Amino acid sequence: MPIATVNPATGETLETFEPLGTAEIERRLAAAEAAYAKHRTTGFDERARLLNRAADLLEEDAADIARTMTTEMGKPVKAAEAEAAKCVKAMRWYAEHAAELLADEHPAQADVSDSGAARALVRYRPLGVVLAVMPWNFPLWQVVRFAAPALMAGNVGLLKHASNVPRTALYLEDLFRRAGYPEGCFQTLLIGSDAVEAILRDDRVAAATLTGSEPAGRSVASVAGDEIKKIVLELGGSDPYLVLPSADVARAARTAVTARVQNNGQSCIAAKRFIVHADVYDDFRDRFVAGMRELTVGDPLERDTDVGPVASERGRADLEELVDDALGQGASALCGGGRPEGRDQGWFYSPTVLTDITPKMRVHREETFGPVATLYRVRDLDEAVALANDVPFGLSSNVWTRDEADMDRCVRDLQAGGVFFNGMTASHPGLPFGGVKRSGYGRELSGHGIREFCNATTVWYG
Ligand code: NAP
Repeated sequence: MPIATVNPATGETLETFEPLGTAEIERRLAAAEAAYAKHRTTGFDERARLLNRAADLLEEDAADIARTMTTEMGKPVKAAEAEAAKCVKAMRWYAEHAAELLADEHPAQADVSDSGAARALVRYRPLGVVLAVMPWNFPLWQVVRFAAPALMAGNVGLLKHASNVPRTALYLEDLFRRAGYPEGCFQTLLIGSDAVEAILRDDRVAAATLTGSEPAGRSVASVAGDEIKKIVLELGGSDPYLVLPSADVARAARTAVTARVQNNGQSCIAAKRFIVHADVYDDFRDRFVAGMRELTVGDPLERDTDVGPVASERGRADLEELVDDALGQGASALCGGGRPEGRDQGWFYSPTVLTDITPKMRVHREETFGPVATLYRVRDLDEAVALANDVPFGLSSNVWTRDEADMDRCVRDLQAGGVFFNGMTASHPGLPFGGVKRSGYGRELSGHGIREFCNATTVWYG
């Protein structure tokens, strides 16, 4: 894949970039190693000062970087601004909380007295140079949610961003440099995915994190496994959205529209499969489909646009294949089902709701990365939970109910890294984020996230 900025709203190539050569990669690995030797010895106050400075600069740049993101990957500009604001918040959150999250742990003396220790503690020390392989869908946020905790823990970062967001990738390197981070603390490597293996195998790289698709995760995790290096994987999702009889159906349907089409439908934690109890099915379906029809599809730089284009021609083709496969096998499109009329340029796709889905259709088990929802009617909670779990993924899940017993059952049985009641899944710096099954392993955000790239060191005093 060429490293290039191509506007998804027009298909126009705006800029192409040469990938880094071997000598430049070597220079940057050496810079990362040297930077780590110093950064690991700094205190939390100094790290917080730098990260807060980066947050202030990003806040000032928000409008510009939002336009850059929209031009590179097509998200509505309002959503891009919200993404920048979310990054600022996460940076400040980690600047404020890292010291407390990584404070020494002192096991109760009673628990370790028979170890012979006069005292013992656990200290969280950094791991070293961490390679981040990141996707284009939240081009700022995915990087910041890795970089903020990693830098606060004393690690340094190397970013291999998706090939279609090079301007955002270069902006991030520049942001950390302007904030005052010493050279080598955070570097962007403009490289293709074929260059990742050699970098991950390099002894100067201690660990990796990858957010992206299952094939990319499998490939990078197998190299990390071979090298016995720590890795965090944040992969795809096909989150269920259960609507049960006691739900506030009007609110559930309104939120469902946002949950499905946020980021032009290209979010790992978007609700993708809508599983609705027969008692409220007709009401939910009518409201949900009406909401999907009302969305404004158009130029993502316009402030009243709800849904912009899919990020790439390949991405739209993948989506079309999934929908056409379902329609060809008897599914019905309650709205959408193809490209919007009158939009010849760019990679637009109409907000779509599919029903009459059967297990043979690809949409039943595969991730739809675009504004396409599948809608199911179920008889009871048993059927809803079974259907919710009938995918290889387990990222998050959403349930609309006021019934405490239903809630307990869902927390016990839904195979996912999150269960969100009466609202849509959203990440917060203070809450862990990640999945099970083919959605990956490890966690980002919160104390869990910052400790992923730490060496929990046992310190024993005789
Ligand atoms: P992708 O094609 O897997 O790309 C992600 C990153 O991996 C890019 O930087 C890509 O580089 C790189 N890559 C791809 N194949 C690789 C390989 N064999 N070796 C090393 N690096 C490789 O995914 P995407 O299309 O950008 O993103 C969409 C996917 O990400 C969806 O499945 C979505 O659900 C998932 N996602 C998950 C989360 C989460 O938190 N769980 C969040 C966001 C997105 P190139 O661009 O150069 O190919």
